[in-house]
Amino acid sequence: MSARLHVDLDALVANIAHVRATVSPAELMLVVKDDAYGHGLGPVVRAAVAAGVNWFGAFDVRTGCAVREAVDDDARIFAWIAASRGDLDAAVAARIDLGIGDADLLEELAEAARDAHASMRVHLKIDTGLHRNGVRPEQWPGFVARAAALQTEGVIEVAGVWSHIAEASDAEDDEARSVYEWALRQATAAGLRPAMRHLAASAASFARPEFRYDMVRVGAFCYGIRSAGGPSADHLGLRPIGRLDADVVEVAEEFARIGLGALDGLPSSLERRAMVGTPAGSRSLVAIGATESLVAAWPGAVVGDVVTVYGPGVAGESTATDLAEIIGTIGEEVALRVSPLVPRRYTRR
Ligand SMILES: *Cc1c(COP(=O)(O)O)cnc(C)c1O
Repeated sequence: MSARLHVDLDALVANIAHVRATVSPAELMLVVKDDAYGHGLGPVVRAAVAAGVNWFGAFDVRTGCAVREAVDDDARIFAWIAASRGDLDAAVAARIDLGIGDADLLEELAEAARDAHASMRVHLKIDTGLHRNGVRPEQWPGFVARAAALQTEGVIEVAGVWSHIAEASDAEDDEARSVYEWALRQATAAGLRPAMRHLAASAASFARPEFRYDMVRVGAFCYGIRSAGGPSADHLGLRPIGRLDADVVEVAEEFARIGLGALDGLPSSLERRAMVGTPAGSRSLVAIGATESLVAAWPGAVVGDVVTVYGPGVAGESTATDLAEIIGTIGEEVALRVSPLVPRRYTRR
């Protein structure tokens, strides 16, 4: 393989500043699941800390523990997938804020905190319609009452109430938000005063101010990945931070062969459908093999030329989301398909 993913950490920092300015006074939680959307967890987290980010969204506890190794004690790490007692113990030890959307899990966490003589910060999750874990509305009043009792006992501190929305249609999101508002009132009635109410991810954090509450959980936009079918990164004031480049390894009359294929994460469904950037402008990606692919030839092509599969700064550039739209998926999916074996190259002024 002769390809690499360039990650522009200055662009990341600029995006973070722009997101924070846009959502202020709400706080930004930078979502770093899936190895920071394929850009590399450690460098992304360190650059974000230097830029003043204080909240990280980790998905699972294992990722949360990896984030903890890169940040100070006072940085807040939120994880919302804990699969075992081992996970809960690890979350207690790493002082992770846990998202809890299940009554049994709340009891298990309380047990883990009791055993460790610790108090765990939890964010209670209401299912507002996505059915991706979260406590159903009919169970919610009992759930918040139990959480209040555990808080009085001192084993948990209810730091947040949250949910996740589809961001696919405004009408559905509005309905989800009215369930969320109801859930907040129930929490208040149970005596809880969660400091962090959070509902929105990238799209709603920009487009729907009333969804911002105390904090927004943003991944895609911080990496400069626009929503499929949504406004351009330029329009949003964001810059893509990743650029996937591959070297030309062979030149023939009709094609140039590049050292990047399906096994490296190039979706084979892009064959004959995507344009890539070459020194002579955009050309069709005519074949995708396991480890190599063919690009339509251009005049003067030589071995060692660089082809940009996606990313900023090339003629006729595609973005990860442009490619995703061709094959009916989202930009995040294209970005995080890039194999961990493709080296990441970081630039930072
Ligand atoms: C992935 C994720 C986010 C971030 O979504 P983006 O659209 O990438 O900003 C926020 N919250 C949860 C629960 C997520 O799983």
